[in-house]
Amino acid sequence: MSTDPKHVAATPKQADSSQDVEFSAAEFEALLNAAIDGIIVTDRDGRILRMNAAAESMFGFAAADVAGQTIEIIMNTRDARAHDRYMDNYMRTGERKIIGIGREVVARHRDGREFPVDLAIGEARVKNELHFVGLIRDLTEQKLAEEEALRQREQMSHVSRLTTMGEMAAAMAHELNQPLSAISNYTAACTRLLDQGDENRRDVDRALDQISVQAYRAAEIIQRMRDFARSRESGRQPVDIRDLILAVLPLARMDARANHVDLRIRLEKDLPTINADEIQIQQVLLNLVRNGIDAMKGVDEASRRLDLRVWMEDETHVRIGVTDRGHGVSDQVAEEVFTPFFTTKSSGMGLGLAISRSIATAHGGKLSYFNNPVVGATFFLILPTKAD
Ligand code: ADP
Repeated sequence: MSTDPKHVAATPKQADSSQDVEFSAAEFEALLNAAIDGIIVTDRDGRILRMNAAAESMFGFAAADVAGQTIEIIMNTRDARAHDRYMDNYMRTGERKIIGIGREVVARHRDGREFPVDLAIGEARVKNELHFVGLIRDLTEQKLAEEEALRQREQMSHVSRLTTMGEMAAAMAHELNQPLSAISNYTAACTRLLDQGDENRRDVDRALDQISVQAYRAAEIIQRMRDFARSRESGRQPVDIRDLILAVLPLARMDARANHVDLRIRLEKDLPTINADEIQIQQVLLNLVRNGIDAMKGVDEASRRLDLRVWMEDETHVRIGVTDRGHGVSDQVAEEVFTPFFTTKSSGMGLGLAISRSIATAHGGKLSYFNNPVVGATFFLILPTKAD
């Protein structure tokens, strides 16, 4: 196989002209070296014939050093093997798995450093020989930017969870007060019973059991709050939607109780599994519940009712709706509710809905709302049930 530039000259036809255009070797050379993307030409066995200037600097090799070597020299071992398999398969069956289709692979620099690239492969016949032309785009910067965006989203969502917890501090204090005063009452009773003598032994045992139950209840509340508020990397897993909702329910109920809101739950039977970051979806739900409760602050206690309903929207989507009986979303603020830092509350941060929407979108879902016909608003989250 020759590396003579004349041999790689192609004769592409212009689609909009009857005139044939033939690249001269010099034009082809200029084209190769002006390209921002790396370009590598190989023979049918993956042996490198040419490499442009961009590829030279991307991989740290001079074209002359790698001429005749297989492309394994610039790919990580796993991807190089996969590449060989694809190529073998293509040669045998003509089935296109990478030819003409871009694919993300891991490339390797001369110094051993691995980095992500987008690889597109075209084929060319040169004097009856099959050549492959690989176009390679370094994705390092793009990946770093994506990772940074993800990190910022995680941080924002953590801040938002902490804010939610801050808003729920009063409810938590209220909720913890009950088991703690029960413990204190049972302890006083034990002391009294013990003072009265041994015949009260069974009553003391019963009181001690109650103390342990109440202590467990308090510890559980604290544990749930800690789990929820913890700083963590986001990660998706298959989660049963019912379990996910039941896990966040104690916090939602606690908030509802402290604000005299009648919280009602209706979960359709046979809810599916979704591929989701459990804490983030719980965060969205808790935020919708919190907002619904806030929206009913001016409503008399007997009318404060919040309905959380979950059902299948269609075969591949689940819908979670939170319906309140509050002041609803007025026309003036309708455009803004999902804008970061927009709030109509004196102590609001205005981050909840913005972050909730970005969580929904990142899950391939949707967060929106409508005003109910009579009173209040319904915010709803739609999530795909199949992996995205
Ligand atoms: P915050 O709760 O800190 O204000 P959000 O982003 O959660 O931040 O909400 C932004 C605004 O959207 C709220 O201040 C409120 O005006 C409006 N809003 C949210 N939920 C409701 C609701 N259920 N009913 C009426 N208005 C709502």
